[in-house]
Amino acid sequence: MGFKAKARKHRDKDTSTKDSRKKKSSEGDLICAISGCDKYADKSLGGRSLSLDNALDMWGQGNFTPQKGRVRICKPCYRAWKKENKNDETY
Ligand SMILES: [Zn+2]
Repeated sequence: MGFKAKARKHRDKDTSTKDSRKKKSSEGDLICAISGCDKYADKSLGGRSLSLDNALDMWGQGNFTPQKGRVRICKPCYRAWKKENKNDETY
């Protein structure tokens, strides 16, 4: 525990002089897989990943870009999907 806190403190000091802090937490690395959507699908930004079947159901073939059998989508897209698939959800 102590080690982690120490390491973090050190890193914070270090990065203040580097440009690795450029990236703000409001921006992500993952772009939504849905065609025409350029929002971020990062987990930290509320992004989700759907199965291929689920995405096919909602957006249709060719309208999204799957990655390793999953479809990473942004929060708004996930909400839209969830709305459409409310009845199938058990939770
Ligand atoms: Zn999206």
